[in-house]
Amino acid sequence: MKDRILIRGSMILSQDPDYRDVPKGDVLIEDNRIEAVAEKIVCEDARIIDGKHKILLPGFVDAHRHNWESMLRSIGVDWTLGQYFTAVKKTLGPAYQPDDIYLAQYIGALECLDSGITTLFDWFHNNNGPEYCDAAIEGLKDAGIRTVFGFSNSIYGELPVSTVPLDYSDFRRIKNAYSASGDSLISLALATRGPQFLSMELVEKEMRLARDTDTLTAIHVGDGIWGRSRPVIKLYEKGLLHSDMTFIHCNTLSDEELMLISQSGAKVVSCPEVEMNMGHGFLPTLREREVGLEPALGVDVCTSIPGDMFGVMRSMLAGVRAVVNDTALKKGTPVEQLPILATEVLKFATLNGAKACNLGQKTGSITPGKAADLVLLDTDMLNMMPMNHGVNAVVEAAHPGNIDMVMVAGKIVKEQKKMLGVNLPKLKRRVEQAAYALFERAGIAKPEEWIPPVYEENHKS
Ligand SMILES: [Zn+2]
Repeated sequence: MKDRILIRGSMILSQDPDYRDVPKGDVLIEDNRIEAVAEKIVCEDARIIDGKHKILLPGFVDAHRHNWESMLRSIGVDWTLGQYFTAVKKTLGPAYQPDDIYLAQYIGALECLDSGITTLFDWFHNNNGPEYCDAAIEGLKDAGIRTVFGFSNSIYGELPVSTVPLDYSDFRRIKNAYSASGDSLISLALATRGPQFLSMELVEKEMRLARDTDTLTAIHVGDGIWGRSRPVIKLYEKGLLHSDMTFIHCNTLSDEELMLISQSGAKVVSCPEVEMNMGHGFLPTLREREVGLEPALGVDVCTSIPGDMFGVMRSMLAGVRAVVNDTALKKGTPVEQLPILATEVLKFATLNGAKACNLGQKTGSITPGKAADLVLLDTDMLNMMPMNHGVNAVVEAAHPGNIDMVMVAGKIVKEQKKMLGVNLPKLKRRVEQAAYALFERAGIAKPEEWIPPVYEENHKS
């Protein structure tokens, strides 16, 4: 007997290029998959979820986040990228114990689900041994989020230019554990430091490991001054560019490097809110478009910005448009058409994210046969009335408080605006105690008064 759920009467923004958006329609879910999408579906034995006055979306995909930093929430709002490097990579990261990793991963993943993110690319670069890695994955599993787990280096191999190798045998252990299970919510990627942060000898070794094991590879490139060291050219010259790669940020890459990424068939990910706040550089979106690239979107770090996709989508629009509008102002010519539309940004935050995670066949749109990763957004709230334009309202008016129901692979994790199975007061006490102890171990007596020095070594590498 199949488990059936019928979401009835919602506005459907499918993000599937073959399905038009439906102002009012039904979606049938059978077990963990979307069975049917239509204006009217009759199913006698389904549990009914009332979708009236609600917008149904595919779950958001955060294509780049360091989830283990959730314990350091908001601490670096006024920090530059250089201050963040000193604080997180040199001081706070090494103070984590496996229990802190578990808790950070758990609360970060719950926060994702609460705000409608059903898939996360989690880049784990505080990977100080198997017990850290296991704790990181346990936190994700307990929260119930779909994750591409980006296996990465230890925190001691993080600062540039590192000669600390990846734990290759532990990578293979995790790869064996998660590659065989087709329906598992966890899959594996290799999150490599790349030419900006790692010696080229080790870059080649890590990239070979990824190819030998047929593993998606993600690399930070083009972030701030470090990004001007021609990292993509270096990869190209060694024959290391491949379609099964994602390039994160890309702000200070040259046009030639963006072209090389496009020609290789690899994907790009922008984290606009973090990039503009922390000094990575202007958004490369229009330069990417020139060479046929379209980004996925990511939060990146909750030390500095909120952990939901609404702010990220708004930052993408504002960031791209600010430059175009300012250029036109300086020339004294009016802008005929704003670049990058809300409909495109919503696709960046859903379907493009799924594709960047190699999950384009599984999630990212409301398509029969795909996993039932779905979000219902309440429009009976002050910030959403009157409902004049669904997509525009989701991108520019909505916030996590509008998220009414969240489902991952057919399993409801949030209903009527409440996360299921989460004892929030108890969790909060545990997290606050752990955070206090963490700062104490790191020697930071008053985090709210701490101004870390700017990390400058190898700035011109
Ligand atoms: Zn990052």
